[in-house]
Amino acid sequence: MSKIKITLPDGSIREYKKGITAGEMAFDIGKKLGEDALVAKINDRLKVPINEDSTLQILTFQNKEGLEVFRHSTAHLLAHAVVELFPDAKPTIGPVVEEGFYYDFDIEHHFTPEDLGKIEQRMHEIVKKDYKVERMELSESEAKRIFKGNQYKIELIEEFHKEKQPISAYRQGDFIDLCRGPHIPSTGELKSFKLTKVAGAYWKGNQKNEQLQRIYGISFPEKKELDKHLQMLEEAEKRDHKKIGRELELFMTSELVGKGLPIWLPKGEIVKREIENFAIEAERKAGYLRVSTPHLAKKELYLKSGHIPYFQDSMYPEMHLDDGNYYLKAMNCPHHHLIYNHKARSYRDMPLRISEYGTCYRNELSGVLSGLLRVRMLSMNDAHIYCTKEQIEQEFENVIKLVVDYYKIFGFDEYHFRLSLWDPNNKDKFLDEPENWEFAQNVLTMVLKKNNVKFVEATGEAAFYGPKVDIQFKTVTGREETMSTIQLDFAAKTKFELKYADRDNKENNEVYVIHRAPLSTHERFIAFLIEHYAGKLPLWLAPVQVRILIVADRFEKYGNKIKEEVEKHNLRVEVDSRTESVSYKVREAQAQKIPLILTVGEKEEKNGTVAVRTLSNKVYFDVKVDDLLKKVVENIEEKKIKFDL
Ligand SMILES: [Zn+2]
Ligand SMILES: [Zn+2]
Repeated sequence: MSKIKITLPDGSIREYKKGITAGEMAFDIGKKLGEDALVAKINDRLKVPINEDSTLQILTFQNKEGLEVFRHSTAHLLAHAVVELFPDAKPTIGPVVEEGFYYDFDIEHHFTPEDLGKIEQRMHEIVKKDYKVERMELSESEAKRIFKGNQYKIELIEEFHKEKQPISAYRQGDFIDLCRGPHIPSTGELKSFKLTKVAGAYWKGNQKNEQLQRIYGISFPEKKELDKHLQMLEEAEKRDHKKIGRELELFMTSELVGKGLPIWLPKGEIVKREIENFAIEAERKAGYLRVSTPHLAKKELYLKSGHIPYFQDSMYPEMHLDDGNYYLKAMNCPHHHLIYNHKARSYRDMPLRISEYGTCYRNELSGVLSGLLRVRMLSMNDAHIYCTKEQIEQEFENVIKLVVDYYKIFGFDEYHFRLSLWDPNNKDKFLDEPENWEFAQNVLTMVLKKNNVKFVEATGEAAFYGPKVDIQFKTVTGREETMSTIQLDFAAKTKFELKYADRDNKENNEVYVIHRAPLSTHERFIAFLIEHYAGKLPLWLAPVQVRILIVADRFEKYGNKIKEEVEKHNLRVEVDSRTESVSYKVREAQAQKIPLILTVGEKEEKNGTVAVRTLSNKVYFDVKVDDLLKKVVENIEEKKIKFDL
């Protein structure tokens, strides 16, 4: 009996009988792997006999590739169901995307939410039939015959032919789709899926091409994973910052202004200012000096900093003025370097910490802009710390502590640090100063350890000019996002000739720059805050902190008297004296997420008190106004996350 040698991804070699299938081998390697196996990377088939020495990789849903095979197979299943239900639909492409998968169809009919239900049902029927999914290798002419009448597939076939790529298709039952593969072996494995939405699309994403209809979906091997995911989507929708921002009148957008340019409304402006004032005060205490710099600068500045050409794609086109060519500012750093250089510096100036809520402009494509998360103009909680080599450790530690303190105030605890290091084997990507890299990386690692913060290392992810620390957030809806970055920079000292006179009055040009923006940009940070609190902002941040509800007209005078009292403490307060019912007014104030709803009627007027309802929906009757205000002021001063009596 002849044997074959199979090499696994870890390099180990196993011997098997000729004719064994990848599925059998997966079980031989481990029971769990066998059960979870979706597809094998030899010839993409689990059940086909293997007769020669091969390398084998079993893909499961836990691998990115395995997950993609699973979801893409669900896209085929979707197309299969759609052509059965709508025979005139022409399937085009069905790729995997971050939120699951989609399939684009050319079809006269407009898909409705009811259609999605019907399509899902048909998909389940196809799953029950457990069709084998078979690969077909095709010549150009065979492929063109099979996909006759579908100009999209014909276009793809011609492209594949021109690029000398093999042409293949996959068959399940009567449905054949042009595809490179791989696919899972049978439709029976696709049990848990959901079609999530319909959207318009264009062939190849080009507005000049045919308009198509796109159906999005998501799938998982287990129903409980799907349920969990759907629940998360529902929560994400409820917490969507665009929806809440609109409802609470925080910001708006206008077609006349353009995409990615949010307009802050009075209430949003209050939130922005509160955050900014908080940062200004905290950073003043931490020894930062505040500046403000222009939104435009000459091309020469960005040539000096290297943003042109390296960052040019993210900058807006050049403006030709009568005295030279200008750019909108994309980064605050070059301006701050000029401030460092505006006079001779000595060791006494160091460390010099220059801060600014700087407005920057980024040239993003209109298609990727979204709410406050991807914008074209942003205000950054920026600062640059200029220090000597010996001061790096202390300054870096101060920044880490500031970050931790900031996030504690805002009630964020789901985050970790990611230390991005250089890769000594890839010298093209990094500034060639090995000693500085070693030194700086050691310092950063030491400080992170010393301060007991959770961190992971990422080799080769540093900036060109030095190591950096990213602060990675896990959002309430499960996404991981970079909230902010701390970078150490050894390049600026050369580019901008940064220097100082040391204790012996000798010129020293070893000036290191720390770039940091713990509160990210106003745009990103507020989007995050809204989502985190589902709009129920802490008292100190709330645009309207107190609303007084009058039970009947005759208590308006008392209500206004309370308002005056509240205003004396610099609180943001309004009176609702409309002749609506109290329960209606309460519901409306709750929808506006107002942290303190005070109700006044006969008893309250007589006793000189108010009834208080808080964001956690607790109600306190007959509360003395002075007692309440004392606690409110305290809560705001301490920037507490919650308020209850
Ligand atoms: Zn496919
Ligand atoms: Zn910077």
